[in-house]
Amino acid sequence: MTSAQSESPSQPQTLAPLQLKKGEDDRLRKGHLWIYSNEVDTKLTPLTAFEPGQQVLVQDNKAHPLGIAYINPHTLICARLISRNTDYVLDQSLLVHRINIALSLRERFYAEPYYRLLYGESDGVPGLVVDRYGATLVVQINTAGMDKVKDQIIDALHKVIKPEAIILRNDSSARTTEGLTSETELVYGPASDTIHLIENGVEFDIPSLVGQKTGWFYDHRSSRLQMQALVKGKRVLDVFSYLGGWGVQAAVAGASEVMTVDSSAKAIDFIHRNAALNKVEDKVASIEADAFEALQALRLDKQKFDVVILDPPAFIKKKKDHAKGMQAYQRLNQYALQLLENDGLLISASCSYHLKRDELLQVMHNAARHVDRQLQIMVQGHQSPDHPIHPAMPETEYLKTFFARVLHT
Ligand code: SAH
Repeated sequence: MTSAQSESPSQPQTLAPLQLKKGEDDRLRKGHLWIYSNEVDTKLTPLTAFEPGQQVLVQDNKAHPLGIAYINPHTLICARLISRNTDYVLDQSLLVHRINIALSLRERFYAEPYYRLLYGESDGVPGLVVDRYGATLVVQINTAGMDKVKDQIIDALHKVIKPEAIILRNDSSARTTEGLTSETELVYGPASDTIHLIENGVEFDIPSLVGQKTGWFYDHRSSRLQMQALVKGKRVLDVFSYLGGWGVQAAVAGASEVMTVDSSAKAIDFIHRNAALNKVEDKVASIEADAFEALQALRLDKQKFDVVILDPPAFIKKKKDHAKGMQAYQRLNQYALQLLENDGLLISASCSYHLKRDELLQVMHNAARHVDRQLQIMVQGHQSPDHPIHPAMPETEYLKTFFARVLHT
């Protein structure tokens, strides 16, 4: 090893220690990856001594090594574990290794290259999300520690996947918390306004730099596939439809009519483009409006549907919004139930981490009782396998979807 290498701050033997207080190593030892700032022994290792993104050697209160983490002294989650093996720092070689492991999981499930390739903590890459759209990768770097190795991430992705284009969607709210700038950028590859993808055999074009999050919600793919089997000949209402993930797939799967509702004009434009792309444009209509208002207007208009899909944005982003969010979910489900025919199907989802699965079920049940309907839950949907759950980290599980038959009592 050259002396230059041994002095590099990313060599394990030169990393500064981050010492935890007594007992605060428990959660890490059980498999979690986060360290909160109040767990650090700041007398011995003051957080102010660290740069955002710096890598550190995590130790318990007796200075036994626990692994390597990157740090952000300014955030509540002040460090995230990268490796329990203190020989491995976060560098290009570790990233290549982790990407390969993540890729092999996706290839086990999906014959075509359209999926979430990296799902942060669950794939051993805290703070990093990458979605794959064939030869285009959309990357979201959410923490200072990952931002510091941005070039290595790009190089590692290039090495493993050899994409034609890489887009950085570094505009998440998490970045602001981390003190990072917001930016979207084509790192390399041909500039294009749209990205193409195939999901469950259906084609979609999505906006490349201005879509929500990384552009597409692959997390519902398994549930959408299940939906496809249940909509033949049915009249379907897709609420919060975004680019038509559910609605266009319903039309392709044989729905007789699909009505989509979204407040974004851009989303509505893409729904019609995607319907045309799959030659179902004559079956897909849209309402550009607030969903709550649109559902009430449809009821006043005495419209009825065989299937209603509710896949809203997170109504509960923070714990303190819980009660208000529950009310919003309940009202939404109630409006939807009033539009369903007897024996209809309600597909109701929530991506709010703070709304637990049993709470969503309770909200749906309450809404049903309120309008004299009875539910039979037939399917419980989860995030798709390209969003694997880390069993020690409940924070990695957020999506729940219920398929309920609705009976008029
Ligand atoms: N169901 C979508 C994902 C929903 S993303 C899918 O399967 O891909 C949330 C969508 O809700 C966005 O398109 C956003 O424009 C829309 N939206 C947010 N608030 C809304 C509201 N109050 N009324 C109608 N649409 C809304």
